Amino acid sequence: MARRRQIYEGKAKIIFEGPEPGTVVQYFKDDATAGNGAKSGIITGKGVLNNRISEYLMLRLQDMGIPTHFIRRLNMREQLVKEVEIVPLEVVVRNVVAGSLSKRFGLPEGERLPRALVEYYYKNDALNDPLVSENHITTFQWAHPQELEDMETLALRVNDFLSGLLAGVGITLVDFKLEFGRLWEGDEMRLVLADEISPDNCRLWDIRTNEKMDKDRFRRDLGRVEEAYQEVARRLGILPESGKGDNMTAENEQ
Ligand code: C5P
Repeated sequence: MARRRQIYEGKAKIIFEGPEPGTVVQYFKDDATAGNGAKSGIITGKGVLNNRISEYLMLRLQDMGIPTHFIRRLNMREQLVKEVEIVPLEVVVRNVVAGSLSKRFGLPEGERLPRALVEYYYKNDALNDPLVSENHITTFQWAHPQELEDMETLALRVNDFLSGLLAGVGITLVDFKLEFGRLWEGDEMRLVLADEISPDNCRLWDIRTNEKMDKDRFRRDLGRVEEAYQEVARRLGILPESGKGDNMTAENEQ
């Protein structure tokens, strides 16, 4: 197979040139980082699981009429997506106090917010992705006011849908991060959901025990990281057949 040209290498993914114009290939690595690269390691099998989990969630969101960059999964670690111009913002939606919100305002983790909270962070590693206001975003022209409105509406729709989907499999969607891309179709531009949706960029807690089932297990050295990602995939009914199915086997044997 011809070697593809690498366009970009991020912390958890590599982007390659796609087979057709207007497409790129997302390759999911097992590498994990936290604290903007301060901590790094490998979570064996993470790339395979995130590829499947993100495929599943993006397809379900597309079914709900939410536009995404996703085209199709190519193999265990790669998916074909539309080439977009990434908006330099991380859009975070929170339902329950955790992580940086808890630190910033001195609130205990686990308190449910009275309504979903949308926050924006400027995507810039050198500046540690600072929290920004809508005024910063429009003043520095990272996004137009209309794009901001569209991102907020889409982010809240994603939150409603994913909260329900995950609650159905016994998971609380505490918070998550989205990225959006500008997709050009002729002279027309529209915003679509880009990047990935996986336990790397969501906080997922078991609905009964509040046990963490996401990257916080790695960030906070809680152990059983792979197992947590596998459990999310298992509950969604998408554990890859050739992935480690220990939990599944144990359960089936009971
Ligand atoms: O750290 P913080 O509490 O701000 O994270 C909020 C949500 O955004 C978490 O689900 C986290 O996984 C995600 N996030 C991310 N990438 C970042 C920062 C946060 O996916 N660079």
